[in-house]
Amino acid sequence: MVAMIQEVTTKPVPYKLASRLHHPSPSVVSVRDRKIGDGSVTVMAGPCSVESRDQIIEIAQALKQAGANLLRGGAFKPRSSPYSFQGLGETGLKFMAEAREATGLPIVSEVMDIENLPMACEYVDMIQIGARNMQNYPLLRAVGKTTKPVLLKRGLSATIEEWLMSAEYILSEGNPNVVLCERGIRTFETATRNTLDLNAIPVVKHLSHLPIIIDPSHGTGVARYVSAMSMAAIAAGADGLILEAHQSPETALSDGQQSITPDEFAELMQRIDILTRAVNVKEGVTIG
Ligand code: PEP
Ligand code: MN
Repeated sequence: MVAMIQEVTTKPVPYKLASRLHHPSPSVVSVRDRKIGDGSVTVMAGPCSVESRDQIIEIAQALKQAGANLLRGGAFKPRSSPYSFQGLGETGLKFMAEAREATGLPIVSEVMDIENLPMACEYVDMIQIGARNMQNYPLLRAVGKTTKPVLLKRGLSATIEEWLMSAEYILSEGNPNVVLCERGIRTFETATRNTLDLNAIPVVKHLSHLPIIIDPSHGTGVARYVSAMSMAAIAAGADGLILEAHQSPETALSDGQQSITPDEFAELMQRIDILTRAVNVKEGVTIG
């Protein structure tokens, strides 16, 4: 018996606006004059936490000198223990803004709640939604109502589809400026803090038009592994990296074990410069 095909149905994607089906060309997200997703590699770097004015300005200058494109630094920290350093709050954002003045680097910082969002928007160029808040739907809707670029980290145990649906919350409120960030997921492996899922790069590129950057600092949790995974991410087609760097990782108030020094960062940038030419991205990183 020959079966007749009566009708062809395609399963509707639950993330229509984030999907490549409805938006075939890649999105480019501008953060001040930096374009993410245009074929270049964007490197964001900075300490896990803003600790003082001098600390953030000094590291920002060193990172800028080595070729960083954006400055990261947490002012509101989602710490596992309530007794750990929680960040400097608005004061930290003021110091970040001063570091931007000093270097010209746009700034990205995490916002953990709706309450602090309008205040944070006064300072930052890009809002980071942390892994723990990837499914905080009211917060996603609130950033979706702003026009700020959003760096949406993947949740610790979120599937790629769930992550894209979180992006959809932001897009559906009218903010098209979403950049995805893979930062490692929880697996049975204990040799590293997380398992950096580089599969996410080609999968996201296939399913979505949104840019994707990689965070090998949280992805490995170990400074000595950061360089290798940064290179792997770029070779796999990532639109950029976000790296934790600290002038004195051993005394850092958070995530020192995974933070690289300015010298290590500069060396990595030289390697990335060579790699980007080899894999033929639009332009190499700009050193100096
Ligand atoms: C951070 O960037 O310091 C951070 C807390 O990241 P994540 O949300 O990925 O853990
Ligand atoms: Mn951190």
